[in-house]
Amino acid sequence: MEYAVCSDGMTKKYGNRTVVDNLGLRVHPGHITGFLGPNGAGKTTTISLLLGLLRLDSGICEVLGYPPGDHRGLKQIGALVESPSLYDHLTGIENLEITRLMRGVPKSDLGRVLSIVGLTQDAKRPVRTYSLGMKQRLGMALALMGEPRLLILDEPLNGLDPAGILEMRELIRELPKKDGITVFLSSHILAEVEQIATDLVIIHHGKLRYQGSIDGLVAHEDSEVAFRVNDPKMACELFSKSSITARVEPEIVIACIPHIEIPMANSMLVHNGISVYEITPSQKNLESRFLALLEDA
Ligand code: ATP
Repeated sequence: MEYAVCSDGMTKKYGNRTVVDNLGLRVHPGHITGFLGPNGAGKTTTISLLLGLLRLDSGICEVLGYPPGDHRGLKQIGALVESPSLYDHLTGIENLEITRLMRGVPKSDLGRVLSIVGLTQDAKRPVRTYSLGMKQRLGMALALMGEPRLLILDEPLNGLDPAGILEMRELIRELPKKDGITVFLSSHILAEVEQIATDLVIIHHGKLRYQGSIDGLVAHEDSEVAFRVNDPKMACELFSKSSITARVEPEIVIACIPHIEIPMANSMLVHNGISVYEITPSQKNLESRFLALLEDA
């Protein structure tokens, strides 16, 4: 299977309004793909189509090689759509047990999912005593039951406080590393997605605006790249000597180069005795590219 999700011409209308418009998705297995778009872009509708909760009006779509909603595919998908539906008066583990029985998952899975989401200690407390972050993590535990190959998460960080966001982000980032899970998660905030995902799908008014790696979003033009180095002033001089526009900021030097030239710039610095600790496309770039994509629509 080449793609975890593959669609062509995927279209959904409400009345005569097209809210998902001709989407051709390609989600790579084992990657974390951020599904990004402003409010009302059509993300939840798309996710509902992938899960078979809504029917396509036209186009084709396969999720893990099966049509959306096919039980052979659904068995391998974990989903967290908006906030999880939990029984407040039951404990964490009792909530998990209900889903476990419904899905026919082995009992041993309870311990596994509780430990992944870090709720082992709190499993026997009623859910009404949980913080929002803990409830969200319990929702993730529900989604992870039965060892899914694909996790579809709709705005998983919505409503969480900064500590909750941090916990959830760490949790999601570890999944592909540990279990090879493919993660497809929606958000309307670029900065949020950028810290979790390696790949991006951007939609606006239901139409695909970008699909590819996060790095690729700024790859094709001269962009600002931040090099964290031991000697930013010296690095800046070296860039200037190579006719690269650069400036020094505290602890970093920002060079204006096309993405493809980053390895060359890096090796030039290293050959001249500079220690390079980190290379990142500057946040401003990603944001301006993202906004430009939305404006072009
Ligand atoms: P958000 O980030 O706000 O959740 P979204 O990208 O998930 O937005 P959707 O919820 O998919 O967007 O909505 C896409 C568009 O479809 C919106 O304009 C919304 O008003 C409309 N829409 C969603 N559900 C229905 C429905 N059941 N009937 C009619 N219009 C709908």
